[in-house]
Amino acid sequence: MARPSPLEIYALLDKSNCKECGYDTCMAFATDILERKVKIKDCPHLMQDPKQAKKRDKLIEVITPPQKPVIIGTGDRAVTVGGEEVLMRHQLTFYNQTAIFIEIADDDADLEEIVKYLTDLKIERIGDVLTLDGIALRNVSGDADQFKLAAKKITEISNLPIILCSFNAEVLLAAAEAIKENKPLLYAITIDSWERIGKFAIENNLPVAIVSSNLDEFLSLSATLQKFGVKEIVLDSGTYFGPGNLSVTYDNIMQLRTVAINKEDLNACWPVMGVPAAYWSQVKIGNDKELWEHQYQELIMGAIMESIDTNLIVLHTGQKKEEIWALLALMTLRQSVFSDPRIYPAVDPGLYIIGEPEDMAPIFVTSNYRMTKIPVEQDLKGANLNCWLLVVDSEGIGIESAVAGGQFNAGSIAEAVKEFGAFDKVKHRILILPGMAARLSGALEDEADAFVIVGPRDSSGIPKFMDSQWKPEEFMKEYESWSKE
Ligand code: SF4
Repeated sequence: MARPSPLEIYALLDKSNCKECGYDTCMAFATDILERKVKIKDCPHLMQDPKQAKKRDKLIEVITPPQKPVIIGTGDRAVTVGGEEVLMRHQLTFYNQTAIFIEIADDDADLEEIVKYLTDLKIERIGDVLTLDGIALRNVSGDADQFKLAAKKITEISNLPIILCSFNAEVLLAAAEAIKENKPLLYAITIDSWERIGKFAIENNLPVAIVSSNLDEFLSLSATLQKFGVKEIVLDSGTYFGPGNLSVTYDNIMQLRTVAINKEDLNACWPVMGVPAAYWSQVKIGNDKELWEHQYQELIMGAIMESIDTNLIVLHTGQKKEEIWALLALMTLRQSVFSDPRIYPAVDPGLYIIGEPEDMAPIFVTSNYRMTKIPVEQDLKGANLNCWLLVVDSEGIGIESAVAGGQFNAGSIAEAVKEFGAFDKVKHRILILPGMAARLSGALEDEADAFVIVGPRDSSGIPKFMDSQWKPEEFMKEYESWSKE
């Protein structure tokens, strides 16, 4: 089914422009429904007027993406997986990034400490706060009570969504019963356990994960569960390590996504998950390799899965503070893969204040490319500098390319100096130009009537630059001697 147009959505709305949803017109509401900024329930007419029930049902049908979304958990940290409309990001955008869950064994003596660490973990990067999405609790003890106890413990100390992992239906359902209010994902349903777990999932409105390496078996299980009444399903076609198995894993995931999104197969129309953590149960860990070499194999699988929009992954590495490097790699990759290609990565030009700058505080110049401005700002703050950051409109292009393309030039910088009153804030006329724009320094001195000093090529070098080269009084003496000539 092709993506509906705003007009098709508008046709199913009340068209009274009553503004009760906060929008001035039903057309504006229709446009934002498509962008998932509002939900059908935000229009009281559609929800409350029985005469509109047919239109509402049609609207739900029209806007449901070919790969349905599944929600795991409740409250602020509930995570939506899947719900995508396209196979490749550039065809539109991905709406929900790969959810990263970290596995914990139910008999881990440090369970409490690990859960607290994972719950609070935050990484700030280029203006975004990156966090983990959940915990996959594995029944390693083989004991139903231990599993239940561990599940309860996690819900008491964390609001992260949980996947309950056991292939023993009895053990799985004992823990699920104890924490069903937290809407865990039940992992996993197989050909042997579908009836029992499916029944529990229907009664308690819980999502389930089907595991199978056989596509036909998969689709038949999915069809049966849906017929049975299961409302949310996640598909796991297996994660395999060892020679030749990477391509099998990759192909299975892509096949499921393609069948769901391009062929709109109702049995495959669900999010897909992968378990890089399976490395540790599939590969013999001997003394021939360092620990990090094994971890690296797991992470490579995770990175591949993220890059093909696998909707959820479960990792083993990352539980411990010293393994932060692993999460840094996967969370930053994920940030890049799931940025919206339709949003131009620009920030507003202007004069940004950092700390409490005084009269002779430096003025750093940069472009308005988001990935430049934010790291520069973070480096300035990280160095505890009190200064000004002059962000010049380079049409959202990074400095090196914008200098080459002419968007970041002496004229545009001089204009920004004037427009944002940079020299009104200080008692000097010094500008610090990024190293990558060094060749503009002569022209900029003329255009902005300023003393220009070239800073480091990378903003991480600013503290060293400030220590060794920032001599504002000397610069101003030089500037004044020129001015007199
Ligand atoms: S509340 Fe419904 S009817 Fe009223 S403007 Fe919004 S979309 Fe239109």
